[in-house]
Amino acid sequence: MYYNENTQVFFDGKWLKATELMVSPYVQTMHYGSGVFEGIRAYATPDGTRIFKSKEHYKRLLYSAEKMHLKVPYSEEEFTQLSYQLLEKNNLSNAYLRPLIFAGQNMSLTPTDEVHVMLCAWEWGKYLGTKLLDVMTSTYQRPNPKSCHVEAKVTGHYVNSILATTEAKQKGFDEALLLDANGNVAEGPGANFFYERNNVLYTSPLGNILPGITRATMFELCEELGFQLVEKCFSVDEVKGADSAFFTGTAAEVAGIASLDKVPFNLKWEDSLGSILQAKYTRRVAFNEFSNFSLL
Ligand code: PMP
Repeated sequence: MYYNENTQVFFDGKWLKATELMVSPYVQTMHYGSGVFEGIRAYATPDGTRIFKSKEHYKRLLYSAEKMHLKVPYSEEEFTQLSYQLLEKNNLSNAYLRPLIFAGQNMSLTPTDEVHVMLCAWEWGKYLGTKLLDVMTSTYQRPNPKSCHVEAKVTGHYVNSILATTEAKQKGFDEALLLDANGNVAEGPGANFFYERNNVLYTSPLGNILPGITRATMFELCEELGFQLVEKCFSVDEVKGADSAFFTGTAAEVAGIASLDKVPFNLKWEDSLGSILQAKYTRRVAFNEFSNFSLL
């Protein structure tokens, strides 16, 4: 699914076949989750293949690396150029790109100068599918910002995401919604959360969440559409029985939610603000609607 015998990946300055990439079993990241990564999408547009918000993604990657004491020998611009080469070498246009930076051989809990950089890409449908989601409030909390850098995209944080998603699926739901350490709604396992009540959209403030690039795009789109979008802390009870809700993320894009803890949202998805944002997001990323795309 992710690669075949012709797939090329970038690894530590070289282009290799995915089937030939070898990694030592003593790399720190495999044992302790100290790596950082990104999830980026490229789209076929009338101007050719364009990576959506490449600069923003690589800025966040370098920020995450800094927080995890990983020294990275590439700039945002170099990463963007490598990403376009990656797509070209693999004949990909609508694709998901996965840069991963990981700490090398070190079984101690200390930083290491041995840092590896890998870029790969594959075709990936919408992460949460296209059907409206039945969501449950997770029994797992998002990681406490006092115990790690929640605003960084760190491999180890996804243990929490895997547990929450697995719990939701085992209980017959499509996805989880996680609270923060104060009991307010934070985000999904791999996406930010929004809900609508009386024509106003609400989303959790920064502090306990990953600052999503799709979330930031929602602010831009709401501004353009004249939609009111408010950042505030809110409880699950405020969300239950609201008018509509959705998740946003690079992989999921804009994913509508049917119910939270079996309580349905009031509006039909087609009549919600989220559905307008979903359509506008699709036009923004794939049809070069405005000038949000640049090669660098
Ligand atoms: N929260 C979490 C925990 C995520 O993993 C993601 C996906 N990167 C997001 C939010 C959404 O971020 P973005 O819109 O930048 O993909």
